[in-house]
Amino acid sequence: MTEIRELLLSRIRDVADYPEPGVMFKDITPLLADPAAFTALTDALAEIAEGTGATKVVGLEARGFILGAPVAVRAGIGFIPVRKAGKLPGATLAQAYDLEYGSAEIEVHAEDLTAEDRVLVVDDVLATGGTAEASVQLIRRAGAEVAGLAVLMELGFLSGRARLEPALNGAPLDAL
Ligand code: AMP
Repeated sequence: MTEIRELLLSRIRDVADYPEPGVMFKDITPLLADPAAFTALTDALAEIAEGTGATKVVGLEARGFILGAPVAVRAGIGFIPVRKAGKLPGATLAQAYDLEYGSAEIEVHAEDLTAEDRVLVVDDVLATGGTAEASVQLIRRAGAEVAGLAVLMELGFLSGRARLEPALNGAPLDAL
């Protein structure tokens, strides 16, 4: 295991049965509070952004904002928030997706992405892949290209990677 991976892992707190019984919540607040770990994470994600030739970072609400914004600054490219429905004031594109019980909807400002953009999606945890899949669909519908998806961690037992493969259509999925 590399030093950075070890450092990042050591700053992620497992919280059992949160927010509901049976879920092992991956709490990244200790990582955010440690400047060495947060900087290492930002640098690693920015390297991925630069490697994919991304012109924009899309961060997924809410922890994708915290990770994605410094990555965009470090890579010298723009940051675009993908928000839960009803939070963006301008004209939006919306994408609905299924949850275990019920459904959810995410939105992006329609004018924020153009056909010239290559977009790296950033989030903290890839679980079932539903949120990431919807964001990829949203980015394509906005006319932009998906450069890849980069997450701090992937919960392999939930098979999000397999679910995302068709949507990513060859774009890389990096889990640190
Ligand atoms: P999913 O759409 O199932 O891939 O869920 C991804 C979203 O839910 C991400 O934005 C994560 O922040 C959050 N999430 C899902 N499972 C967990 C978990 N076990 N610990 C922390 N966050 C999680």
